[in-house]
Order: sequence, then structure tokens, then C-alpha cells
Amino acid sequence: MKNKSNRNGVSRKEFLKSGAAASAFLMGGALLNNCSNNGVKRLGGAKNIIFYVSDGMSIGALTSADMTMRRKYGKVSNWISLYEENRCRRALMDCAPLDAIVTDSAAAGSAWGCGHRVPVRKINMGPNGESYEPIFSLFKREGKATGLVTTTQITHATPASFAANVEHRSMQEDIANQYLEAEHDLYLGGGYEHFSAEDREDDADLFSQFEQKGYNVVRTENELQNISGNGKLLGTFGRGHLPFELDRMNTYDLERDVPSLAEMTKIAIDRLSTNPNGFIMQVEGGRVDHAAHRNDLGGLIYDQIAFDDAIGEGLKFAEKNPDTLIIITTDHGNASPTLNRSYNGYDATEIEFDTLHNFRYTNDWILSGLDDSSTINYIRERIEEASTFGITRDQARELQLALRGERKALYEMMSVPRPTLGAIIANYTSVNWTGTSHTGDYVELAAIGPGSEALDGFVKNSELFHIMIKAAGVSV
Ligand SMILES: [Zn+2]
Repeated sequence: MKNKSNRNGVSRKEFLKSGAAASAFLMGGALLNNCSNNGVKRLGGAKNIIFYVSDGMSIGALTSADMTMRRKYGKVSNWISLYEENRCRRALMDCAPLDAIVTDSAAAGSAWGCGHRVPVRKINMGPNGESYEPIFSLFKREGKATGLVTTTQITHATPASFAANVEHRSMQEDIANQYLEAEHDLYLGGGYEHFSAEDREDDADLFSQFEQKGYNVVRTENELQNISGNGKLLGTFGRGHLPFELDRMNTYDLERDVPSLAEMTKIAIDRLSTNPNGFIMQVEGGRVDHAAHRNDLGGLIYDQIAFDDAIGEGLKFAEKNPDTLIIITTDHGNASPTLNRSYNGYDATEIEFDTLHNFRYTNDWILSGLDDSSTINYIRERIEEASTFGITRDQARELQLALRGERKALYEMMSVPRPTLGAIIANYTSVNWTGTSHTGDYVELAAIGPGSEALDGFVKNSELFHIMIKAAGVSV
């Protein structure tokens, strides 16, 4: 990184302290007029903000996905190309919540969503029930369009952290109610169970209530592609989370009915950018985190690549619309997947790492077909179908023990089937894991566009809220 001062010699702290002066500085003063002659509000230098979060992305996930893209597809990831070409500001971010040293997504997202560190599992709520107005409400009040795009349930913690207030992240029906109330412009992701009368505890039919408010309500990619007009949009493409990208790509029905994260992002940008006052959106690669919890390498790498494709959509838009601030980061590390030198030597390492190119299905897919009665032969067949290599009988036996609840790893969280399978796969890919949960590592943060000048060195997650507010000239 460069030094602590930005181009004009203003430190981040000075930037955050100053109000209008900061906004003026952002665009050299040129755009700081509250109302242009066509009546369109121009508040700060950043007319639009696209906030990208790869949930639970340790540095090894970013590295291995970039390396896979280079080796398999012959291209650099969008994220790393920003570094290679020196096109962005870059920082390390401290992700801690208010009450612990390792965070969850609710507290981490809330730090961005309201500017306060809150206790784990709470969304934009303080330790004593304080309710902090979420960033989307603030932007909407200024006439900005607002939208959420994710591969998790749309009411999951990370998207909710920009638009809701709840005491516990599990209150997803309440979050859906708050989305209806808030009337943000666009919600695209999974989780229709929190909207449908058949699934909800209170039997409320939120889909028809959204329709009554003028929303286009869609449930398949085909419906999404065929919406007419520019009305508000609720798209839920699965009952729970959307499938992992690797399974989606290789399963006919899923590929047909579920849009990719990049497709959803492109549609969101197209629609939100019709607002003359600009927009703010959050794009979450939400299942990178889930793959890491599962020690599921195929799930992790292809979801991270899908996330990177979605970044590409934002960068294309920002090229034509330079008054767009793009922030790209993660909310915390998870399970620290890392490419190690192979037990079989340096030369073997790349051969093993490249077996990832041939993966067909995730470990999640493998385990969904196994249980405590699975035979050694069947375990081996199923892994070969998904990964295209055969494992040994001893390895299959170890997974069988885990499936039966009879395996004891020295690091106890690794005893269950998912990390057992993850460790078996590591013998063939050279990528191994440190655990099955979130880490306390500082994380990568990249930013490009007006307002990004305020970012470099080392930041606390909660500072991003203030950076976005100042960059867009939105008042709190
Ligand atoms: Zn997680």
C-alpha cells in the first residue's frame, strides 16, 4: 500500500471527520451541488455504490480461486487484476464484533450497515436493544435506489444487515416483513420459504403482499429474464439457499431455473441504474462461507469464481459510470483453506491442485447421497463420480466411521463427515483446512471510484459505513 495519506494528502481520519468538505474533495468540488438544473440530486462524488461481499472468504480462497482461473481459463480474476494493474485502494480490515474476537455475519454486516459494532447474531441492534437505522433507509430517503443480490436466502444475515433491524439473525420472517415495509427496489436470491404462506409460521402470503405493492415477483430464471417494465422486483430462486455454483453448472434443472450471481447482478445494475439519483446495492457471494464451513473445496472455488464474475459486471458498469464507488471485501475468514506443498513434492503440487479443474459436484452433493449405512465401495464410487479420482479403501473407511459418528479427530471439530471428507480430498488437491468455522484473521478490502481515496492501510469494518455515507453525501 501507499502511505497513510491519499492523493491530496488527507488522512482517512481527517476525511471521516470532515463532512461537506470531504464530499467536495472527492470530486474536486465539481459535483457538489445539491440540485443540478434537471432536478436530479447530486450529493457526493459517488452517485452509485456497489458493495461486494464474498462471505467467509479467507485469503486462501481468494488465492486458490485466482490461481484456478489463471490455470484453467487462462485469465486473471477481476479482484486480483485490480491489484495487478494498481487500479484500486487496498486495505486490511479488522472484522471483530462488539462482544467477541471472532465475528459472525450478522455483526460483521451490521458494522457496515449502521456504522456500529454490535454483538454477534444481532442485526443493526446494540447490546441494550438500541436500533440503528440501516444504510439502505438512509440512501432511500435521499432518493437513491436500493437493491440486494445474494446466493443465500435473501433474508440471511449479510443482505439483512443493509436493510433490517432484528435482535437475532434467525428472525427471517420478520426480516421479510421489514423488506415489504421498507419497499427497497430489488431483492434477488434464495429463501422463498420466508415469503410463502405454506411455509411461514404466521401463514402470511408475502408474495401477494409484494405484488399488491407493485412488485414483479419471480421464481425462475426464465421469469426473471422476461419481466417487462422497470417496477420493483422480488426474485427468490429456491426454497433455501441457492445451489453451489459447481452443482448448479452441472445439474440441468438447476442451470435452467437458477440464475448465476453474475446474471442477477447484471439485471440488478441495469434496473437500479435507471434511477436518476443513483443507487446502492449489495452483492453477496454468500455460499463461499458455507463451502468453507463444510471444508468443501469444489463448492468454495467455483462459488468464489462466480462471485468474481459478478464483480466483472460492476467493473463494466463503473467504466462507463465513473461516479460509482465499488467496494470488494469479505465479512470474515472461514476455515482458512490453503494450498500447501504436496506430501509428494513440489512437482506433484500443481498436478494435484489442477485436479480441481475436473470436479463435477461438491462434497455437499457427495454427502447428500451417503449415510451411516453406506458401504466402502459405494463411498468410493460416489466420490469418484463427483471428483473424478478414486480414493483408497482406508480413506473411505475413515469417512464411513465419521458417517457413523465413530471417528475421533484430535482437533475435535474435525471428527464429523464434512471435514473428514475435506481432509481426504486434500490428499488429492493439496488444499487443506484449519477448522470448520469463522476465523479472526484480518481480511482483504479493495475499493475503486469516488470515496475509495479514504481507504488504505488498516481499517475497522465499521468505518466502511461512514466512508459510504460520506462518499455519497448522504446525511445520517
Ligand atoms: Zn458462516
